[in-house]
Amino acid sequence: MKLAARVSQVTPSITLAIAAKAKAMKAEGIDVCSFSAGEPDFDTPVHIKAAAKKALQEGKTKYGPASGEPKLREAIAKKLRTDNGLDYKAENVIVTNGGKHSLFNLMLAVIEPGDEVIIPAPYWLSYPEMVTLAGGISVIVPTSASTGYKITPEQLQKAITPKTKLFILNSPSNPTGMVYTPEEIKALAKVVVEADIFVVSDEIYEKIVYDGAQQLSIASLGEEIFNRTIISNGFAKAYSMTGWRIGYLAGPVDIIKATITIQSHSTSNVCTFAQYGAIAALEESQECVEQMRQAFAQRRQLMLERLNAIPGLSCPKPDGAFYLFPDISKTGLKSLEFCDALLQEQQVAVIPGVAFGADDNIRLSYATDMATIEKGMDRLEKFVKSRI
Ligand code: GLU
Repeated sequence: MKLAARVSQVTPSITLAIAAKAKAMKAEGIDVCSFSAGEPDFDTPVHIKAAAKKALQEGKTKYGPASGEPKLREAIAKKLRTDNGLDYKAENVIVTNGGKHSLFNLMLAVIEPGDEVIIPAPYWLSYPEMVTLAGGISVIVPTSASTGYKITPEQLQKAITPKTKLFILNSPSNPTGMVYTPEEIKALAKVVVEADIFVVSDEIYEKIVYDGAQQLSIASLGEEIFNRTIISNGFAKAYSMTGWRIGYLAGPVDIIKATITIQSHSTSNVCTFAQYGAIAALEESQECVEQMRQAFAQRRQLMLERLNAIPGLSCPKPDGAFYLFPDISKTGLKSLEFCDALLQEQQVAVIPGVAFGADDNIRLSYATDMATIEKGMDRLEKFVKSRI
């Protein structure tokens, strides 16, 4: 059968592909150090699993509203009010099958053919692909280590055209780990409001920040920007619930309603009993989030020290998420070649920066144990030394 043209316009997710390859190699008995997919190595906290189990036992096994369990929508709205100072109600929230699905629903709901979406590079690899699948055009704005891989207000301003619909802001960032300061966020909000465009604020790494860095939601900076922001967030990273597939969007009611319509014809509701785990995640103790954050902080320190001690590699210190994004240009290799050879020769799995729009970098996730980090860094060091 002739496939739809849209399939050839996008490539399969390389983060998922490399993670799957590393897992398959491990299953074959190969000693792989995987720093590939951004997935916390911790199990989901016990109280969250218990709440889902209880819901399952109580027969929460039926269809629910496509928009999400009312109790979970309430709990998310409450979280956004308490943690982020955002005046949302349950009707401003849709529960989705993960952060990725949130963004996909949103793109389908708002993008019309030819609409432009501004995406600072390095970007999370699925953003441009989603824009393409929705019929829009990605306007990629390159940033560099000199600005901490952050888009400046001037760059944003310059990229705006009459066709601009959305600007995607992701702080803390995947893949760089950089966190925009409150002042930087304020300056970007001003440009968004003046240009009368909308901003998608991907806040999935909100809880994973270090050294006193502050994650500020752009929507909290006044009514005008609040009305022009759609927040995407989820449970995967903060609560180690990657496989549960539960995310959400929050924003103006008309936009949220449109995403509910789309979702009602695609996936319907998110797994009903799983949503009760998410309710427990929000309503019960947040100590587990802090414990995991502290573990990530130690791992970041170790991996960063080891990386920057390797002659030829350099990596700025990120304030958030669980990724390092070193520059590999001194090795003379482009990112794909680097990653293929590293996996082949040293059995270390990392993601080529080209997937994120930065071919002189690689992305390493340190959401893994210290012993794997030590071993992987020994191997990486050997690999880089053999190249320069
Ligand atoms: N968001 C994670 C990552 O960037 C998970 C993989 C994916 O969804 O692409 O590694």
